[in-house]
Amino acid sequence: MSYQPKTGQRCSCRKGVQRDNCPNCEGTGMVIDFAAIRAQPIEIKNFRVSIVASLGPHLQFFSDSQDVQPIKEDIGADAEGYDSFFVATKDGDYTEVWGMSGIIPYRSKLVTRLIPKEQSK
Ligand SMILES: [Zn+2]
Repeated sequence: MSYQPKTGQRCSCRKGVQRDNCPNCEGTGMVIDFAAIRAQPIEIKNFRVSIVASLGPHLQFFSDSQDVQPIKEDIGADAEGYDSFFVATKDGDYTEVWGMSGIIPYRSKLVTRLIPKEQSK
């Protein structure tokens, strides 16, 4: 699963090997709008989705099963299907939780915000 907002500009790379390895268009031929990816969470099917690289340093990453299991129990059904979590707490309560599939937080990996559910304005 990937989501790549595009700027609408054609990339200057040449088709073929150069394009396949092009960091500006990621092989699509159209320049990817990385600023848009960083600037705002993307809404897909009522969930807020982002990528690991966009998450703030205030979040702690948990991937050990002994840490993940209690988080899953606390959050319940919304946390099902995720293998690891980025978490921020205040006074023992979750203020922000993102779920990720897999346990290696590559910068490009998708994360889904579980808490807060709605975007605060
Ligand atoms: Zn390119």
